[in-house]
Amino acid sequence: MEKGTISIHTENIFPIIKKFLYSDHEIFLRELISNATDATKKIESLAALGEYKGEIGDTKIKVTLNKEGKTITISDSGVGMTSEEVKKYINQIAFSGATDFIEKYKDKKEEVQQLIGKFGLGFYSAFMVAEKVQLVTKSWQEGAEAVMWTCDGSTEFEITPSVRPERGTDVILHIAQDSEEFLDKYRIQSILEKYCKFLPYEVEFEGKVI
Ligand code: ADP
Ligand code: MG
Repeated sequence: MEKGTISIHTENIFPIIKKFLYSDHEIFLRELISNATDATKKIESLAALGEYKGEIGDTKIKVTLNKEGKTITISDSGVGMTSEEVKKYINQIAFSGATDFIEKYKDKKEEVQQLIGKFGLGFYSAFMVAEKVQLVTKSWQEGAEAVMWTCDGSTEFEITPSVRPERGTDVILHIAQDSEEFLDKYRIQSILEKYCKFLPYEVEFEGKVI
């Protein structure tokens, strides 16, 4: 097991995310599906370049709701990440301008929504609805070992060895008490219908393609 601290300059970014983007919490799903889409595009590019020689297989992005367990999981068969990549891409959010940014845009919700992706806050929008986020991922690279990253919304994280038979990533959101409205399948369905209509890959929810 390895423990560490996420490098951000603000003491704790997550309460800020929650506070200022309060009414836009549902975009977490769009952000995570967009990451799943990017990861799937990357494996296809690697295959086209001849770097990846294995099968592409099913490129569906799957969203799973576990109401009893209070989790929502977003799974893809994209490039996945090695533990080094998790540390590089997930832990080091360069968000030195966070406070300035939020001050500047706090009254401009639409601009904030548009900018959130650009500022690399995409993945962290998960913390608008989740009290804990787990990421189980296995890189496409030969011999890569699966790893699990866990973060409870503080700046502490854990990385442990994990099991995942195939390449790709599962993002498991442990939904916070104040966000339990997202444990409703109709709510998830309607968010998916809103954001996922024109994606290059199919998104499956409750056994059906959106
Ligand atoms: P952005 O998508 O704008 O780069 P994010 O915060 O959404 O910012 O994601 C940060 C990085 O984490 C991504 O660039 C990518 O390298 C990595 N990442 C996130 N989700 C996935 C995923 N499902 N599969 C592979 N890599 C991912
Ligand atoms: Mg993103």
